[in-house]
Amino acid sequence: MDMGKAKKKKSVNSSLVILAVLCVVIVALGAFAAYLVHRNNEMKAMNSNAENSLSAAQSELFSLEEALSQKQSEAESFSQAFDEQSSAFESEKNALNEKIADLNKQIALKRQREEASRAAAAAALNPGSAHGNPASNPTPSSNGKIVYLTFDDGPSSNTPRILDILDAYGVKATFFVINGGKYNHYMADIVNRGHAIALHSYTHDYKKIYSSDEAFYNDLQAISDLVFTQTGVRSNITRFPGGASNTVSRKYNSGIMSRLTQGVLNKGYHYFDWNLSSGDASGNNIPKDTIVANCKRLPKSNTVIVLMHDTRAKGTTVEALPEIIEYYKNAGCGFDVITSSTPPVRQKVNN
Ligand SMILES: [Zn+2]
Repeated sequence: MDMGKAKKKKSVNSSLVILAVLCVVIVALGAFAAYLVHRNNEMKAMNSNAENSLSAAQSELFSLEEALSQKQSEAESFSQAFDEQSSAFESEKNALNEKIADLNKQIALKRQREEASRAAAAAALNPGSAHGNPASNPTPSSNGKIVYLTFDDGPSSNTPRILDILDAYGVKATFFVINGGKYNHYMADIVNRGHAIALHSYTHDYKKIYSSDEAFYNDLQAISDLVFTQTGVRSNITRFPGGASNTVSRKYNSGIMSRLTQGVLNKGYHYFDWNLSSGDASGNNIPKDTIVANCKRLPKSNTVIVLMHDTRAKGTTVEALPEIIEYYKNAGCGFDVITSSTPPVRQKVNN
C-alpha cells in the first residue's frame, strides 16, 4: 500500500471510533435522562401520595376535634341542666321546709290558744282579777321615793342575769313582756322569784298593732294568754309599745292612741308609762356609764318608774343594773312592784 492510502484509511478508522464513542455517550446520556425523568415521576407520585395521606389525616383530625368539642358542649349543657335541676330541687325542698316550720308554728300557737282559753274558762278569770302577781310591798324609803324598776321587751337571754342581780340586792321589779319565743319559760322564773309580770305586746309590731283597735286588742289578748299559760298569772297591768305618747302609731291609724288609752282602762287594765328613762332604747349596747348616769336623774315625783329593756342587744343594761340599784339605795329610795294600786305615771297622748 502506498503511504497516502494507508494514511487515509487510518483517519477513517479513527473517525469511526470517535463516532462510536459519541454514539455510546449519547445513548448513555439518553438512558440517564430517561432514568431521571422516571425517578422524578416516581418522586412526584410519592409526594402526592404523602400529601394525600397527610390531608386525609388532617381531615380525620378535624372531624375528631369537632366530635370532641361537640361531646364537650353536650357534657357542659348536661352538667348545666343537672345544676339547674338540683338547684330547683333545693329551693323546692327549702320552700317545703319553710311551709312545714310555718305549719308547726301555727299548730303550736293554736294549741297554746286552746290551752289558754280552756284554762281561762275553767278559772273564770277576767283581766281585773290579776291573779298571782305579787301585792304591793315597798321596801323602806327615807327620801319618800319608791322606785319601780321596769324591764320591757323580755324575756330574753339576759333575763336570768337580771333576775340574779335583783335577787342579790333583794329588789323586786316589773317585767312588761312580749312573746320571747324560746325564752318564754323565763316568764315563770320572773313570777316564781317574786316579780310582777305585766303585758307589753305579743308581736311588738307597731305596723300591726296600731293598724286598728281590733288588731291592738287581739295582740293584747294574745300576750295575756301567753303569760297566763306560762305563769298562771292573768295580768291587768300593761304598757303600750312605744308608750302612750308614741307618735309612730299616727302613721298607721290617726287618733288610735286616744281611743286605746281610754279603751284599755274601760276593759279593766291599768297602763303605765315611765318618768325616768335609762336611755338604753336609744341604741344597742349604750355605754354602761351613760345608762347609769341617765338613771341618776331622779324626777320630782315620789313615784319613780324607771324604763329599762330586757333584750339580747341590751347587755350593758345588765352591766349597769348593780350600780343603778346601789345609787337608789344610797339615795334612800324604796323599791316596789307595779300593781293596780300604784299611782299611775302616764305620758301625754299625741295621737
Ligand atoms: Zn317595747
